[in-house]
Amino acid sequence: MTDIKELLLSRIRDVADYPEPGVMFKDITPLLADPAAFTALTDALAEIAEGAGATKIVGLEARGFILGAPVAVRAGLGFIPVRKAGKLPGATLGQAYDLEYGSAEIEVHAEDLTADDRVLVIDDVLATGGTAEASVQLIRRAGAEVAGLAVLMELGFLSGRARLEPALRGAPLEAL
Ligand code: AMP
Repeated sequence: MTDIKELLLSRIRDVADYPEPGVMFKDITPLLADPAAFTALTDALAEIAEGAGATKIVGLEARGFILGAPVAVRAGLGFIPVRKAGKLPGATLGQAYDLEYGSAEIEVHAEDLTADDRVLVIDDVLATGGTAEASVQLIRRAGAEVAGLAVLMELGFLSGRARLEPALRGAPLEAL
């Protein structure tokens, strides 16, 4: 295992049965509290953004904000929050997606993305891929190009990568 992978893994806390029975929650707060680990993660994600030729970072609510914002600053790019429906004050574009029970919707300020933008989407955990898939669809509908998706961690047994592949249309999915 590479040094950075070992460092990052050592700072992620598994919390059993949170927020509901049967879920193993991946808590990144120990990583955020460790400046060496948080800096290493930010640097690695900024390198991915630069390699992908991104012009903007989209962070997914809420931990994608914490990880994505310093990456945008480090890489010299703009940051755009994709939020749960009803939280953004301006004119929004929305994208609904299915959850295990029911559905959810995310929104973005459409005017913050243009046809010239190549967007790297950042989140902490890729689980079923539903949120990431909806964000990719939203970015395209806003007229921008998707440069890729980068996450700290992928829960492989939930097959999010396979679900996302058609939506990504060849854009890379990087899990640190
Ligand atoms: P999904 O749409 O199923 O890929 O879920 C992704 C979103 O839910 C991400 O924004 C994650 O922060 C969160 N999430 C899902 N499963 C977990 C987990 N086991 N531990 C921590 N966060 C999770």
